Amino acid sequence: MKANNHGCFGLKAAVLRKPREPLSIEDVKTPRPGFGEVLVEVKACGLCHSDLHFMDGVRRTGKLPIILGHEAAGVVVEVGEGVTEVEVGDRVAIEYYFTCGRCRYCRTGNENLCENILRFGMDVDGAFAEYAKAPARNVVKVPGSVSMVDAAVSTDAVATPYHALRYVGELRGGEWLVVYGIGGLGVHAVQIGKLFGANVVAVDVLEEKLGLARRYGADYTVNASEVDPVEEVRAITGGGADVAIDLAGRVKTVEYAVKSVRSLGRVVCVGFPPEPVPIDVSDVIVRKVVIKGSRGLRHTDLEEVLSLVAKGVVKPVVSHRFRLEEINEGYERLRKGELIRGVVVYG
Ligand SMILES: [Zn+2]
Ligand SMILES: [Zn+2]
Repeated sequence: MKANNHGCFGLKAAVLRKPREPLSIEDVKTPRPGFGEVLVEVKACGLCHSDLHFMDGVRRTGKLPIILGHEAAGVVVEVGEGVTEVEVGDRVAIEYYFTCGRCRYCRTGNENLCENILRFGMDVDGAFAEYAKAPARNVVKVPGSVSMVDAAVSTDAVATPYHALRYVGELRGGEWLVVYGIGGLGVHAVQIGKLFGANVVAVDVLEEKLGLARRYGADYTVNASEVDPVEEVRAITGGGADVAIDLAGRVKTVEYAVKSVRSLGRVVCVGFPPEPVPIDVSDVIVRKVVIKGSRGLRHTDLEEVLSLVAKGVVKPVVSHRFRLEEINEGYERLRKGELIRGVVVYG
């Protein structure tokens, strides 16, 4: 680490000062790890669509100004008092929900719903910075065969659809899965669906993204700009999918997802639509459709995902790499749909 900079000003970070303004690249002070915390030298941090919501003012951060960046991996360079889980030099990925460990949700293994949650890079300073601090119990050691870039992408773009499909959608082998939205999460949802033994239909409006879905194992692809995706999915699956996951977060795609499942089908909502979605409740009743929300991930999901990535059975997809100074360009390209997953790499 840069010992002469430690604790001093002079380290660069990408700071959201105000919504609807570019991120400001500025000098910040290195955070110091408190009791139970670690300081991580960030090696890679993913560019996520959620950040665009914060930058656009559609969703709110817990504070302003704030250093964004919640998909991070790096090396532990300092440990606070009371830390026994990790030591200096460990390569780690950061689970971005900082939770209390005491509320009813934490105590029942649903810490992603913690009543006192603080989201890394959303409520507290994140990892678009050279150093970031996190509670030691929020870091997961990264297997030696997994790169820092792959570990960073695993913390959200892989672990979120993994949690949604495995524990919320309860996807099983032989079932039909339809994935709405082949972006950074969708391309991993396709892989996870195949890993679980499902038949996978991928839906998007861009041919390029559908090609990517096929490359990562989708059995069928549907271009929703050319055909009615609901009719097409029903035809392919012989009456409707068992599980539909919406990662696009559009009013239309949620509506499509609900109509794409068979009776007793499960719809898992992960993408945040910009406005409330009208649902035909009569149809939901008659067909006994189950609509579930899935929020982020739990610590164990990240551990499981990193072990799958280490085995090579899930491959994190990274389309673009940026330096921290190029982050605004990266987000503009993400907004235009040009990135599958962009990552800021350091050093
Ligand atoms: Zn994210
Ligand atoms: Zn809690």
